[in-house]
Amino acid sequence: MSKLFFGTAGVPLSTRPFTTYQGVARVADLALGCMEVEFVQGVRMKPPEAVRVGQAATQNNVRLSVHAPYFINLNAREAEKVSASQQRIFQAAFIAGQLGASSVVFHAAFYLGDPPEQVFQVVRRNLAEVLVRLRENNIKVLLRPEVTGKGSQFGTLDEVLSLSQELEGVAPCIDFSHWHARTGVNNSYSEFQNVLKMIESRLGRPSLDNMHIHVSGIAYTKKGESKHLVMEESDLKYKELLRALKDNDVGGLVICESPNLEEDALLLQQTYLDLT
Ligand SMILES: [Zn+2]
Repeated sequence: MSKLFFGTAGVPLSTRPFTTYQGVARVADLALGCMEVEFVQGVRMKPPEAVRVGQAATQNNVRLSVHAPYFINLNAREAEKVSASQQRIFQAAFIAGQLGASSVVFHAAFYLGDPPEQVFQVVRRNLAEVLVRLRENNIKVLLRPEVTGKGSQFGTLDEVLSLSQELEGVAPCIDFSHWHARTGVNNSYSEFQNVLKMIESRLGRPSLDNMHIHVSGIAYTKKGESKHLVMEESDLKYKELLRALKDNDVGGLVICESPNLEEDALLLQQTYLDLT
């Protein structure tokens, strides 16, 4: 049976003092299983601190992942912006390696009005260069482009799965809330099942054993996601989602991005454990 772990996007709000190091211990105190280290404003953690946090995570049996900076656009017009984006992904992956984190999540690109098929080729090529650098530096961390919440952002389910199929070292980050917000649908048991079946058919069963999932309550408009919400204030059918994850014996990490972080992470975990 696969094992699914639940945790927070960043340090739990109830952590004192409010540091990444203490956050790991707090995740364990809350009886959660994982935490995503958020470098969304930049990778500022130094390698010795990453090693220290990683040791705390091992001791506390907390699995770590990393979220790379938001300022990434592998489809940028300017070559300098592309290389800065590649460098941010590389830097996040380097520190992830020091942390002992399994994956780096990132928002790959914006379309900027370009045809999606063309953007896919550009993103694929620029991401492949990062993968070469990771291999050269012996950094064994999966790069996980995220399913994004807005129509202006590269990152449909198909795009993320295609990158994962075509590039060794790339795997999907499936954000079910984003996908629901972006499409307006994809919010029922059968639709969640379809997403999981699509992942399995395109990437194989091992990908369902080692999934990286984002979930939160979400508000949205025709343009997609507008903001994250507390689960119970949103329309996301999280119980049906958890049922689909359970029925497919999905393993991996579920990172909760609701504004109340650990409260909803615990809600998700308890709801999942109560399923029979
Ligand atoms: Zn994200």
